[in-house]
Amino acid sequence: MWQYELDKDCVFHRKDIKEAPPRHVLIRPLLVGVCGTDKEICRGHREGIKYPLVIGHEIVAQVVNIAEEDGSNSLKINDRVVVFPNYWCDSCIDCKVGHFNTCKNKVSIGVNAPGALSEYMDVESKYLFKVPDSLSNYEAVLTEPLAVVIHAMKKIDPKPGDNILIIGGGALGHLTTMLLLHELRDKVNIFIKEINIKKVHILREVFGDLVHILSSIYDYPLEFPYLNGLKIVDTVGNNSSISDIMSISNILPSGIRSVILGLGQKNVNIDLYAVVRREIHIEGSIIYNPSDFINAIEILYNMHKEKYEYLYRMPIIEIPLIKINDYFRELINNDEVIKLIINPYGAELRRFKLGSVVEG
Ligand SMILES: [Zn+2]
Ligand SMILES: [Zn+2]
Repeated sequence: MWQYELDKDCVFHRKDIKEAPPRHVLIRPLLVGVCGTDKEICRGHREGIKYPLVIGHEIVAQVVNIAEEDGSNSLKINDRVVVFPNYWCDSCIDCKVGHFNTCKNKVSIGVNAPGALSEYMDVESKYLFKVPDSLSNYEAVLTEPLAVVIHAMKKIDPKPGDNILIIGGGALGHLTTMLLLHELRDKVNIFIKEINIKKVHILREVFGDLVHILSSIYDYPLEFPYLNGLKIVDTVGNNSSISDIMSISNILPSGIRSVILGLGQKNVNIDLYAVVRREIHIEGSIIYNPSDFINAIEILYNMHKEKYEYLYRMPIIEIPLIKINDYFRELINNDEVIKLIINPYGAELRRFKLGSVVEG
């Protein structure tokens, strides 16, 4: 079988390797989403990565073979599945209490194990979730990043009347906004802090006037009803986003809650006096649990049934795997790109709104 290995200079090399006999469920990846983690790996900014590496952890695939060892599961050949790409160990202190997302021995495919840019993958059935028939591959490939957002939302528990500030207007910012609008519609006030003018333009195109875009945290309106209980979703996680959280905590009433899901920078400056005196809540959120994954599939299914406009307006760029070296390095550094997807069987680069490739 073939696989595409990424080297430390961000060049992909197609290799033919000998296939081991499958022990679990043999799947064939159909679409592979790209996220910030892949970009960091490509830029060599992620510590602990061993190159060459087969990346790819946002995966829609088709079942091609089911080995005997896993014969008891309910999957059938040709079923489409999404892959839970963080294998938990079931025996560490976190797994024992059901915190699979923080498993200390986590195997993350596409990060510390081979990922999806390959012809086949052999995956235990407990990490495979069936995709509803009507859901397209392009919708289903958003399961993994949406599960990240769903897990983070539980930390701030959005409610009607809330003011929510999302820091960062990239793919996670879009998915967070989309989810909040879907679950709470106009019952929440959504602010997005984004300084990149191209990203601001895309946010306007997708969400119109339903969101308030801030180029500076000091543009936040200091009046009712915006003064009550601000909740912050930081999709960036670096010195600048933390500084935004600290600054807005100084000008708004105390007790701001924030959840950080970006891993932008390891060491940041936090004013501990301000955290104590302004009673700032700062909570981390890492990936998701299986229940978040199931939840993400259900929500995407509901959005599909409703032809949900904010999902369908999401701008996608699809790279054909055979031309990955022509496009990948340029596009991961392009501010106009919101969601990148790799198609192992695509022929040409395509740009489209998600809704245009989804059937009824
Ligand atoms: Zn990711
Ligand atoms: Zn574990």
